[in-house]
Amino acid sequence: MIDFELTPEQQEGIKAAHEAVKELFRPVSRYYDEHEHESPQELIDQLWKRRSEGIFNMGMDVTSALRIEELCWGDAGLFLCIPGPGLGGAAVFASGTKEQLQRFLGGFNEGGPKWGAMSMTESGCGSDTSAITATAVRDGAEWVLNGEKIFVTWGKRAVENPGGLVAVWATVDKSAGRAGMKAFVVPAGTPGMRVEKLEKKLGIKASDTATIVFDNCRIPFENILGSPEVKMVDKSETKGFKGAMATFDATRPIVAAMAIGVGRAALDFVKETLENEGIKIRYGAPRQKLTALERDIIEMEANYKAAKLLTLRALWMMSQFQPNSLESSMAKAKAGLAVTKITQKAVEIMGPLGYSRKYLLEKWMRDAKINDIFEGTGQINMLIVARRILNYSRDQLK
Ligand SMILES: Cc1cc2nc3c(=O)[nH]c(=O)nc-3n(C[C@H](O)[C@H](O)[C@H](O)COP(=O)(O)OP(=O)(O)OC[C@H]3O[C@@H](n4cnc5c(N)ncnc54)[C@H](O)[C@@H]3O)c2cc1C
Repeated sequence: MIDFELTPEQQEGIKAAHEAVKELFRPVSRYYDEHEHESPQELIDQLWKRRSEGIFNMGMDVTSALRIEELCWGDAGLFLCIPGPGLGGAAVFASGTKEQLQRFLGGFNEGGPKWGAMSMTESGCGSDTSAITATAVRDGAEWVLNGEKIFVTWGKRAVENPGGLVAVWATVDKSAGRAGMKAFVVPAGTPGMRVEKLEKKLGIKASDTATIVFDNCRIPFENILGSPEVKMVDKSETKGFKGAMATFDATRPIVAAMAIGVGRAALDFVKETLENEGIKIRYGAPRQKLTALERDIIEMEANYKAAKLLTLRALWMMSQFQPNSLESSMAKAKAGLAVTKITQKAVEIMGPLGYSRKYLLEKWMRDAKINDIFEGTGQINMLIVARRILNYSRDQLK
């Protein structure tokens, strides 16, 4: 039975995360929004020192989602600066063997700050993941990777900090389509892997988003995710492609949790401002008696809560080892749309206060949109939901 009554530990975790970001993120939020590509080094060092507290860990369960909401209530861009295995780690979790988990992630908490990135997208391949052109060619005991990956979150940090890693999807056989797709782990500092450029973005400017080039980049044969023997003979829908989809099942609700945090930041700001002006929302009042403003606020809250419940359900199902592709995509599609609408409405309600750089609301509106783009756009997640509900295959509903 699903029960989202929070345990005392979860409540403590939420409170600790809330207090931490109020102190650490909010005061520097505007600075790093205005200084794109400047690394918040002092903050990163503090986050790394405090890693054993567990407040800043990513995680992929209900408790983590509740914490991530708070962290992104603080600042979604700075949340994406927190050191850790990140999306690269999620790919290893979804597709790796026990030995690979230990080898690639076992030492992540040791030494200095490090990051894990996941690189799937190319200039001609984003929504259509099967269009990958990066190649992996076997040469004896090694793979040789070639290709260019764009829009890689944590890209620069993962490539340049010792101990980091990049999980990269490449094809071992272009003619095989999805069946040729495999995932590989490239450790930071591997010759042949380099950052080509950093994106300038609309929002989440503190997050580094890189183009990574693989130029005859050699990695050990064992760095193909999953069991190499199985991978080489599996010509069906492949563990590589399935691994990519399994990664998304885990990461989409996390992006949804990020979205919810940004949405709540905007909602809290509007409600606090109205309250300070003596305007109360009459929640129980009959619909025909509500003002337009009250209806707007109630609709924003309903969207926020619906997105949150879908997100918690998707993660709860994952923790029960239940297939959650449908629920993950539902949560991501709803949360991406909800946060876009909530933040835009918040700016609209606040008028010039919402548009002014004096407050963070305009920034949250810019930060919001990415949640409707990465880890599958809103349209793609809706498509997945429709396929699952109608029982259509990928080829029957495109
Ligand atoms: C800041 C940022 C960070 C990112 N981080 C990462 C990362 O860490 N790793 C990574 O691999 N990628 C990352 N991405 C890439 C992101 O996941 C892709 O941009 C996204 O999946 C969309 O793919 P695309 O760019 O090819 O767009 P396209 O697929 O070209 O989509 C363009 C538009 O067409 C719509 N569309 C496409 N196909 C369909 C369809 N069949 N039906 C209806 N509508 C459709 C899309 O919804 C979208 O609105 C990041 C992107 C950004 C902007």
